[in-house]
Amino acid sequence: MKSRRLITALAMALAGACSFLVAPATADVGAQAVNLRTPFDCGQVWNANTRSNHNPQLSVDFQRSGALNKNVRSSAAGTVETVKNLGDTSYGKYIVIRHASGLKTLYAHLNSFNVTVGQTVGTGTLIGKVGSTGGSTGPHLHYEQRLNGVVQRVVLNGVHVTYFGNTSITSSTGC
Ligand SMILES: [Zn+2]
Repeated sequence: MKSRRLITALAMALAGACSFLVAPATADVGAQAVNLRTPFDCGQVWNANTRSNHNPQLSVDFQRSGALNKNVRSSAAGTVETVKNLGDTSYGKYIVIRHASGLKTLYAHLNSFNVTVGQTVGTGTLIGKVGSTGGSTGPHLHYEQRLNGVVQRVVLNGVHVTYFGNTSITSSTGC
C-alpha cells in the first residue's frame, strides 16, 4: 500500500510538472488573483468537459441532466460588460463579466438574461439561465475565463479543471 501511494504521489507530481510546462505560469497567477467560483447554485453537481477541438480550446462546457433553465451565477464580483444575442450562431445569448486584475468570465448559449450591461454583480449573483442558443445542440453552459483578453485554463475555487477530459464539480457558490 505504501509503495502504491508513493507511485501515486510521484505520478501526481509528474502530472503537475507536465501541466506546468504546457500552461504558461501567468495563467495560474491571473486566475488565482481573483477566486473564481463555479457559476451554479450551491450543492449542484456539473460535469466540466474540456476537449482539444473546443473553440476556444480552453473553454469549458458544463453539462448535467436537466440543465435547461438552471441558474447561472457570476463567478466573482464585477461589472457586466456584455449582454448580447448572436441569434442562431456562435455563443447565442451570452454575457461577459469584467472582474479585477484583468480577468473576465464569459457565459454562453443562455436561454435568458437576468442582468444588463453596466450592472455591478457580486459573487454568485444570478445572471441568466442555462439554454441551448447559438451553435449549441443541447442545453449546457459554455464558460470561459480570460486574462487580458486571452482565454485561460479554467480554475474554480483554486482548482484546475482537467484538460482534456471531464471533471465532476459540486458547486459551493453561495453555500
Ligand atoms: Zn462550448
